[in-house]
Amino acid sequence: MSAPRKRIGGYDLIEPLDQGGMGVVHLAIQPELERHVVIKSLRKDLVQNKEIDERFRREAEAAGRVHHQNVVTVYDCFSWRGERYIAQEYVDGADLDMALRVVRRVAPSVAALLALELARGLEAIHERDIVHRDLKPSNVLLGKGGEVKIADFGIALEGTGERLTRMGYAVGTPPYMSPEQLLGERVDQRSDVFAFGVLLYEMAVGEPPFPEVDPECDDALIKRIQAERYHALRRRNPEALRWLSKLVRHCLRPKPGKRPQLMSEVRAVLERRLGYPAPADCRREIANWLHEQSVFEPVENETVLAPRPLPKARRRLLPRIPLKVAAVFAFCAVLITSAVWAQRRGLVSMPDLSALTPPRAASSEYALVSFGATPWARVTIDEGTSFLAPTEQPIELSPGSHRVAFEHPEFGRVERSIDVEAGETRTLSHSFRR
Ligand code: ADP
Ligand code: MG
Repeated sequence: MSAPRKRIGGYDLIEPLDQGGMGVVHLAIQPELERHVVIKSLRKDLVQNKEIDERFRREAEAAGRVHHQNVVTVYDCFSWRGERYIAQEYVDGADLDMALRVVRRVAPSVAALLALELARGLEAIHERDIVHRDLKPSNVLLGKGGEVKIADFGIALEGTGERLTRMGYAVGTPPYMSPEQLLGERVDQRSDVFAFGVLLYEMAVGEPPFPEVDPECDDALIKRIQAERYHALRRRNPEALRWLSKLVRHCLRPKPGKRPQLMSEVRAVLERRLGYPAPADCRREIANWLHEQSVFEPVENETVLAPRPLPKARRRLLPRIPLKVAAVFAFCAVLITSAVWAQRRGLVSMPDLSALTPPRAASSEYALVSFGATPWARVTIDEGTSFLAPTEQPIELSPGSHRVAFEHPEFGRVERSIDVEAGETRTLSHSFRR
């Protein structure tokens, strides 16, 4: 028989989800409403500390003022036997930090959708005159249904409220802090815009632009940020789209006046570039990708959203491709890039890129096909295997003819067919037109 659950207020604790410096975050159940909740506690000894206790109360107050699907909802803030607690919505899934440890980096097309959801949440927070100040992967929650929610208002600052920290005293998490926040200067919403740029870069590259300690550079963190000394996004991930790289660069400007001034501007750029996807479309694509990447541990009897693989089309990641084939593929990619470059400059005229068949990759029983799409698309092969394009890595297809559907929530569905032979390397792209 299992031990009775500890009751706190009207909630029964189930298990700890995270143990922080200030207290514990528990998964709990609220029996009256038969729902799961998260209970965040403040340690007893810290309740005695007036400033920390006040900050905890303000965390609930600030988060409680924002009602948005991309922000965790706070239900309650209460005291129980000398300790303080916040009850909030439970997001069943993982935080972005956990997800990045599984996938290392996010395919740029998915990173852009995640960024759009984040931007929508951050815009709602700013509309309430709140600066979050601690935007980082562990404070971004990802639900199994593709929900993206901003959490942890622990050091949030209300624009109109009195200051909780003295000038010259910095709070936050360094790799994500704007230079003004690092220097303990006055911060406003543009500081969150900087942290948003860091997050977007980290999703697409696998690490933040300014690691706290940089083995390649002796300069202190603040100097590197001020000198914009970081590797360009597209240098670290050539798959990233040019506009995404430009947006990140804009958000990472050291002077707040040079960044996008409002989160609504960032959100509008992302929406326009992505073809105005509705929140439900974003959630569906993000959920599919998270499940494809096995970010969530499979649970028995649970519906899995991952697409059904068909025997005809097989998908594998590059590291499992024999070195020889990979080398030939790299050679072909260089050939295609140079050819496109030459064509753009009018040096050669070339037929449609999708018709270009580079030399064969000798010893493979599959064809390697890269899928491109503008602005992006969900690609489904033979009504089975499905993934997001542009693809980060080529997909292995069995020899023969395949039906390929490119789908975008705004532009609809377009069907193409492709005939491939074993060992060949191909690219198939589709541009949706307004
Ligand atoms: P801390 O102040 O200790 O950083 P957070 O509010 O960020 O507290 O919570 C710590 C961790 O607990 C998060 O990184 C996340 O993994 C998990 N967590 C927090 N809130 C929730 C929630 N509402 N639903 C699911 N997991 C959560
Ligand atoms: Mg946190």
